[in-house]
Amino acid sequence: MPSLRAAIFDVDGVLVNSPHERAWREALKGFADPAGFTTAFYQANVAGRPRLEGARAVLERLGGPEAARRSADYADKKQALIDRLIEEGSFEVFPDAMRFAAALNVAGLRLALASSSKNAAAMLTRLKLPDGRTLLSLFDADLSGHEVPKGKPDPALFLLAAEAVKTSPAQCIVVEDAPAGIRAARAGGMTAIGIARLGDEVLLSEAGADLVVTSLDQVEVATLAEGTLRARAAQEPVEDA
Ligand SMILES: [Mg+2]
Repeated sequence: MPSLRAAIFDVDGVLVNSPHERAWREALKGFADPAGFTTAFYQANVAGRPRLEGARAVLERLGGPEAARRSADYADKKQALIDRLIEEGSFEVFPDAMRFAAALNVAGLRLALASSSKNAAAMLTRLKLPDGRTLLSLFDADLSGHEVPKGKPDPALFLLAAEAVKTSPAQCIVVEDAPAGIRAARAGGMTAIGIARLGDEVLLSEAGADLVVTSLDQVEVATLAEGTLRARAAQEPVEDA
């Protein structure tokens, strides 16, 4: 593995426990039966996809072909809901991810955001680091919601992020919670860390993750910039970011 100079973060499920899943589920009333919209369903069909594509996938599976014609309306309703939830502050940072991003920043890596969702910056400006700066301020580039011909698992968004931080794909590491995101990273020639917050370690490994952890505190930051990606030994304490 070559040395690593940049880290590209997915946002939802990696940095932020965001209200996307909740908004998709609540918006479903009136379009299809929300009972089938489980977390597993969300992860498999919606997470990481562009909004309209996600809406169509949900209605095709839960509402049938008639319902699928209303994808745009469903997507609009979901967007209105999530805007409100973000405005209200109905989301939480994952503290391990905040520590990890801060540690990579200190280690001199360039950081980029590459969520399929346009809402990333709105959430990250509302989250504060221990020193009072916003979480968003750690990042050198934000490609979230940038229009690309194809969403993840296509690598287009990650390749744009690499370009934005002037780093070759081989020197980028991607942090992702969704199998489609891991596939996108690998398709782009990047190293991929899978963060399994939902007990889905196997899916992330199968998608091609170079390392799968259940907390980003487990990643050894000290050796990462030199190109050695590994989990730290369990007994080593986590330094404060
Ligand atoms: Mg995600």
